[in-house]
Amino acid sequence: MTGKDTEGAAAARRERMVRLQIANRGITDERVLDAMRSVPRESFVAPGYEDFAHEDRALPIAEGQTISQPYVVALTADAARLRATDRVLEVGTGCGYAAAVFGRLAREVHTIERLPGLVDVARRNLAAAGVGNVIVHEGDGSLGLPEQAPFDAILVAAGGPRVPQAYKDQLAPGGRIVMPVGGGYDAQRLLRLTLSDDGRFTTDDLGPVRFVPLVGREAWPTGGPSAG
Ligand code: SAH
Repeated sequence: MTGKDTEGAAAARRERMVRLQIANRGITDERVLDAMRSVPRESFVAPGYEDFAHEDRALPIAEGQTISQPYVVALTADAARLRATDRVLEVGTGCGYAAAVFGRLAREVHTIERLPGLVDVARRNLAAAGVGNVIVHEGDGSLGLPEQAPFDAILVAAGGPRVPQAYKDQLAPGGRIVMPVGGGYDAQRLLRLTLSDDGRFTTDDLGPVRFVPLVGREAWPTGGPSAG
């Protein structure tokens, strides 16, 4: 069915995905729902997985990584309260799907990926999907992206032991960090830190999540939480 799938059929699957997996779980912001409706998720999954693209789960991509579950992308976007004028940093590009969704909601998205093979995949996927306001960088995103700071939102797609100080330093007043934090793969909580105009952070716990590990200088060593 995949190759012959019409755009109408793909749009109908996305509509169903948004209704059953996202709106039904309490995300009501129409901007977020529209962004999830408009990005062609089937263009971002690994070859051969197109028929599973709209299922309610993460899927494997290259290099042992994953494309996030649709709900988790919507939850992150919703939690970050992205505005059309925002400049965003995403850490953990993977296949580029979430960056494309954030790009629908914000002015400009810088996204950073540590694995060169995925940087190439993401750039190709984003170009094929016609996304023009997402810039893919290669490097250790646990250090943020100082040369493009400050950001209105920093959204992290991999779980680390703590929120790196670099993210706090690279946030604009009123900015939000949304990041999975926890002691191990099975014990992550999605946290939102909001920087007030007087320089203080408030933290909200948005619940349990399960992301691949953030590996880097300010995160886990290579191999993840159990490696050292
Ligand atoms: N945003 C993706 C999810 C990718 S999974 C989506 O749209 O589905 C998380 C990604 O984070 C993986 O590709 C992994 O290689 C990457 N990653 C892990 N640690 C990183 C680091 N320190 N800097 C940049 N990317 C990192």
